[in-house]
Amino acid sequence: MNKGFFEVKSVAECRDILASFEPVADTEDISSDQALDRVAAGDILAGEDIPGFNRSSMDGFALRAGDSFGAGEGTPVYLELKARMAVDEAPQWTLGPRECAQVLTGGSLPPGADAVVMWEHVREIAEDEVEIFRAVSPGENVMLQGEDCQWNQTVVPDGTRLRPQELGVLSALGILRTTVRRRPRVAILSTGDELVPVQETPPAGKIRDVNSSTLAAWCVKAGCIPEPMGIIPDRLDDLHQGVSAAVQKADCVLLSGGSSLGARDLSIEVISGLDQGRVLVHGVAMSPGKPTILAAAGRVPIIGLPGQVTSAQVVMYVLGLPFLAHLSGVSGALEQKAQARLRARAGRNIPSQQGREDYVRVRLLRSDHERLLAEPVLAKSGLLRSLLRADGLLPIPASCEGVRAGEECEVLLL
Ligand code: AMP
Ligand code: MG
Repeated sequence: MNKGFFEVKSVAECRDILASFEPVADTEDISSDQALDRVAAGDILAGEDIPGFNRSSMDGFALRAGDSFGAGEGTPVYLELKARMAVDEAPQWTLGPRECAQVLTGGSLPPGADAVVMWEHVREIAEDEVEIFRAVSPGENVMLQGEDCQWNQTVVPDGTRLRPQELGVLSALGILRTTVRRRPRVAILSTGDELVPVQETPPAGKIRDVNSSTLAAWCVKAGCIPEPMGIIPDRLDDLHQGVSAAVQKADCVLLSGGSSLGARDLSIEVISGLDQGRVLVHGVAMSPGKPTILAAAGRVPIIGLPGQVTSAQVVMYVLGLPFLAHLSGVSGALEQKAQARLRARAGRNIPSQQGREDYVRVRLLRSDHERLLAEPVLAKSGLLRSLLRADGLLPIPASCEGVRAGEECEVLLL
């Protein structure tokens, strides 16, 4: 049996390998009000202009902008007040030169008008005459027809995860149903003779299975449907059966534990023995998380995660979440900049080994000068609560020996 990591791959190489898996192709037609966080399958086009008519974005007086030119505090322009319009009125007449109409925020502009002067800059001097004290340019304080989006324009591109913002656009367009990708099903297996289900009190020498629940939760965060398949003892035939069943029912398999090189580390052997099983990566140049496996059985991806509870979560965050987003059909999910990050200065020197990418747990604090500081969380790496105290992960590239206090770095937000 192979007793060394095959060839340790960088995180970037792993992303490229993961990108070669096809996203879930099936689609579902769902009610748009159920579409939050789902991924658009195909471009969504506007069936009409938004706004559908020229609208005022202020309470004020609609006019032809040219008529206000030259108006100022001491040099008002006089216009005829043609109408006072209700907010939902659609005027059938056209505003002529040197005329204006009172409009409300959101209301229609009469045809002919191309700008609105806010009411603060207008004085009514007679029932049908106003003074304008401020010049406006064409388009000022109005939303023109089609300015938000135009008929037939793509408003939501294929592969977009739908946020409240996107749902608002669908509402404006009256798009009641949306075609989205099916959510990937992710089978989760924990391996280890020492594990008991969380419902049980572990006898001496055993511990509760933490990874099934954390990995399931990370899957939900990634927009997938977790299928926890329980604990499998460190026995080749049990593992073979469990992983084969997982491959049958899921779009992706997460296998935690047994991914390293020890006597009880059977993941590589199990995967190699699957129908069309192949190991793509054994060992990633990252810390924590080196004993990570990327593999496949036929077309189904398998990620072998280290059993160690914090390493498993860091790998899940760094590779698992982008990959599950990719499987979900999110475009660009595996690109390096896809995850939320911000820039901060290292609060102290952080040493790092060359040759591997370190993911340092950091807290974000404000310095006296209102600068954002990333302070490493000082704790043994395997302690679960170190992740509770971390706001983010600070990646230190494989080529660096560390970062110096005050150096600017990127922090991935947890
Ligand atoms: P392994 O990767 O199987 O060698 O496991 C590494 C360490 O993580 C060992 O101390 C295991 O007991 C622990 N471990 C493995 N799987 C789990 C799990 N699902 N929940 C909690 N701890 C685990
Ligand atoms: Mg184990």
